[in-house]
Amino acid sequence: PPAPPSAVDVAVIGAGQSGLAAGYFLARAAREAERGRRPGPPSSFVLLDASPGPGGAWPHHWDSLRLFSPAEHSSLPGRRMPPSPGPDTPGADHVVAYLADYEQRYALPVRHGVRVTRVEHDADAPHPFTLHREDGPPVAARAVISATGSFTRPFLPAVAFGDGFRGEQLHSSAYRRPGPFAGRRVLVVGGGNSGAQIAADLLLAGVETTWATRRPPRFMPDDVDGRHLFQTASARVLGRSEARVGDLGDIVMLPPVRRARDEAGLHAVPMVSAFIPDGARWDPDAGAVHGWAASSRLAAEVRGAERALDAVVWCTGFRADLRHLRGLDLTHRSSGVPATRREVPTASVDVPGLHLLGYDDWCGAATATLVGVGVHARGAVDDVLAGLAAG
Ligand code: FAD
Repeated sequence: PPAPPSAVDVAVIGAGQSGLAAGYFLARAAREAERGRRPGPPSSFVLLDASPGPGGAWPHHWDSLRLFSPAEHSSLPGRRMPPSPGPDTPGADHVVAYLADYEQRYALPVRHGVRVTRVEHDADAPHPFTLHREDGPPVAARAVISATGSFTRPFLPAVAFGDGFRGEQLHSSAYRRPGPFAGRRVLVVGGGNSGAQIAADLLLAGVETTWATRRPPRFMPDDVDGRHLFQTASARVLGRSEARVGDLGDIVMLPPVRRARDEAGLHAVPMVSAFIPDGARWDPDAGAVHGWAASSRLAAEVRGAERALDAVVWCTGFRADLRHLRGLDLTHRSSGVPATRREVPTASVDVPGLHLLGYDDWCGAATATLVGVGVHARGAVDDVLAGLAAG
C-alpha cells in the first residue's frame, strides 16, 4: 500500500466503522467540490489505521458474537448491510466483510498498519496538527477526526490480575471461544452484555461457570429485539425522544442468552469479596451494598462460601483509547472524558479542528453503533470543512 501523504487537509485516525463513516462524508464532499457543487477545492484526506486489515475491532470479538440488531438496522451511511445468512442477527465476520467492502466501494484512502502515537497542535502553523507515527515520518493535517474506538483499552477493576489468585485471568477482549475452558471452573465477572454473552457461551458448551455481577443484572424484556433498540436509539438521535436504550435494561436477551437462561441455568450471583489462591470467597453479606437483597435466593447460593476456580474472565468494559491525544492537554469533564461542544458533540472545546467520533454517548447519542455513527460523522465533517473554508 502507498505510504501516507506527508500533509493533508483532514486526517482521520482509525478506520473502524466510525472512521469509515467520516471517510464516506469526506469523499462525498470532495466529489461535490470536484463537480462544482460545493465551493472551493476538494479537501484532501487520509485514514490512518493501526490494524493490518479492515474491520476495526470486529475481527477480534469472540466467535459466537451476534449483533443486537438485524442487518437492515446495522448500516453505515450510503450502503445497506446485506442480509446475513440464517435466522439470527449477523455475526462479527459479516460486519468485517461489510466494512471491507465499504472501504473499497468508496475507494477510501485507508492506510492500514499505521499507528499514530502522538498528536501535536500548533495553532499558528499552516497545518496545525502533526501526527507522529510509530513507524515512518509524521503526517501534517489541518484538521483531525479521532476515531480510535475503545477496544484497544480494556478496563479492569483494581482487583483484577492481583496476586491473590493463581489461576488464569483474561479480559473479555481476549476471549474467543469456550474450547480452551473445557473441564475447568470459570468465573465470569460483569453485568453487561459481554458478561452475559460469554457466561452463556461457556454454559452452553457445558463449562462449569459462575457469573458474578456487582449489582443484580438488568435484563431487557425478551421481546425487546434489535429493531426496538434501533427505534429507541434513532428517536433519541433525531431529538424525538429522551429515552435511552439503557433505560430498557443493560442486557439484550439475544437467543443464546435466553437459551442459556432457560436450558443451562444462566444466573448471576454477587461479585466475589476476595480472591484466594485457588478460587474466590464471598462474605456473608456479599453484594448487600450493591442492591443484592438480604433475602436474595441467588445471593444466598454464594454468601459465606468459597468456590474453587481455574480461570476468571473480566467482562468489565472499555475506555476510549485517546492516548495519542494526551499531549494536547484537553479539558476533561468530571466523568473523565474530554469536553466537547454542545451543538457539535464531536468537537473538542479546546482545540479547533479536532473531533472525537464514535467513542460513546458523551460524543454523540448512539455514536458507538453502526447505525448511530453516521449522523455524528456527518456533523464532524461539516464542521471540519466549514472550519477549513473559513481558513
Ligand atoms: P473500532 O472498531 O475499535 O476501530 C478503531 C480502529 O482504530 C481500529 O482499527 C484500531 O486499530 C484503530 N486505532 C486505534 N488506535 C489507533 C491509533 N493510535 N492510531 C491509528 N489507528 C488506531 N455495535 C453495533 O452497532 N451493534 C452491535 O450489535 C454491537 N455489538 C457489540 C457487542 C460487543 C460485545 C461489543 C464489545 C461491541 C458491540 N458493538 C456493537 C459496538 C461496536 O463493536 C463498537 O462500538 C465499534 O467497534 C466501535 O467502532 P469504532 O470504529 O469507533 O472503533
